[in-house]
Amino acid sequence: MDSVNPATGERIATYEADSDDIVESKLGTAANTFDEWRDRPLREREKLLASAGDVLRENEETYATLMTREMGKPIAQARAEVQKCAWACDHYAEYASTYLESEHHPSPPGTTVKTVHEPLGPVLAVMPWNYPFWQVIRFAAPYITAGNVGLLKHASNVPGCAQALEEIFREAGYPEGVFQTLMIGSSKVDGVIEDDRVRAVTLTGSGPAGRAVAETAGRNLKQTVLELGGSDPFIVLDDADLDAAVETGVLARNQNNGQSCIAAKRFIVHEAIYEEYVDRLVSAFADQTIGDPMDETTDIGPQADPDLMAALHEQVTASAEAGATVRTGGEPLDRTGAYYPPTVLTDVPEGCPADTEELFGPVAAVYKVSDAEEAIDVANDTRFGLGASIWTADRERGERLANRINAGCVYVNQLTKSDPRVPFGGIGDSGYGRELSGPGIREFVNRKTVWVE
Ligand code: NAP
Repeated sequence: MDSVNPATGERIATYEADSDDIVESKLGTAANTFDEWRDRPLREREKLLASAGDVLRENEETYATLMTREMGKPIAQARAEVQKCAWACDHYAEYASTYLESEHHPSPPGTTVKTVHEPLGPVLAVMPWNYPFWQVIRFAAPYITAGNVGLLKHASNVPGCAQALEEIFREAGYPEGVFQTLMIGSSKVDGVIEDDRVRAVTLTGSGPAGRAVAETAGRNLKQTVLELGGSDPFIVLDDADLDAAVETGVLARNQNNGQSCIAAKRFIVHEAIYEEYVDRLVSAFADQTIGDPMDETTDIGPQADPDLMAALHEQVTASAEAGATVRTGGEPLDRTGAYYPPTVLTDVPEGCPADTEELFGPVAAVYKVSDAEEAIDVANDTRFGLGASIWTADRERGERLANRINAGCVYVNQLTKSDPRVPFGGIGDSGYGRELSGPGIREFVNRKTVWVE
């Protein structure tokens, strides 16, 4: 498995893929470890998770550099990702026992009826490259603290991160087998899901991958969580603070080189401020510093892979041919590395790729609407339902409109983001199930009712 730097096209390292025998041995280790791990007192599991947080913090620079070199995110954002991972570990180290407390139910006198939360077993996690540490810690911290054991199948272009993640848990003092990385390609995933020892599957990635995994899991009656793509609306109303809506809009679309599931992808702007907002957005996009992701001053590094950039460019070209206006960007940069400039499309026609598909790169599709009602209609005119952001000076109006958006989360006057304290997930083609907070840790547990007469 090759690790290639998308900023230079150079191969950084090659990793041996796991043979079928090695996969079999790791599955055996996972099942054996689960029998012991599930009985460890929760307090001990929480303490180990706190140690994993310490390992992350102690090695921040190493892990950040690894991510930047393997998938091209700007180094400052990679450091922030490591810190966020440590925060998630701290969070569950502190709150897991609260989230997993038994629920007591109304019951006849003299009877105790409660639901206890017990782990399910080995959980397979199929993960993407875009937040190569965060996506993994987001599932691992809650699930293994609940008493499950984790098997990571990471995206094939971040094998170095995949191995480093296993190392974190080893260094933190976890028993062997609580968290293991399977070095396998996607063609081997079905076999792992079908294995009786694997009890549940979580996937973060694209719709096609989610459907394939859910299909196999369904045939084998295994529970799934799917965190898929999005085409999040970013609604700017006539009374919005335009400085904040421009500044956050630029970040919301372009952070992580535009490759974020909850990035603002469709900007829906009230006609009263449309011209001013779009002019400012276009000029701020054009001002972004594009370059070496290891450079501290870089805003936007390369796309993670030349093929992904080519696919993005095809979507932009097809949208322009269908009638969209390219206000800035729109052509790959003529330099080494998969560099795509921040791009703004206006006059986006209905049905073109920018309107209906997820654009996984720094490309904003902008819509003009005549009022808040139309803004909601355009926002909901999508098969996705991950996040949304609304900008208005009137907080009550913002909250009222938030209730009418079909999405897993809506942020008013704030960037759409994930936070360990808050449940995260989508509806529709953005997937199902929740990660993070209490609902996240309770996804893969047996909610067992115990009735004592
Ligand atoms: P991807 O191509 O779907 O890959 C994700 C993972 O699935 C990788 O490990 C990949 O393995 C594996 N995979 C692909 N096809 C598979 C199949 N048929 N069966 C089993 N496994 C399969 O997605 P990506 O390009 O890495 O990530 C980008 C997508 O993820 C975007 O759509 C983005 O919106 C979404 N995403 C969603 C969230 C969220 O929380 N909702 C967060 C981040 C990203 P290989 O690498 O070996 O092919």
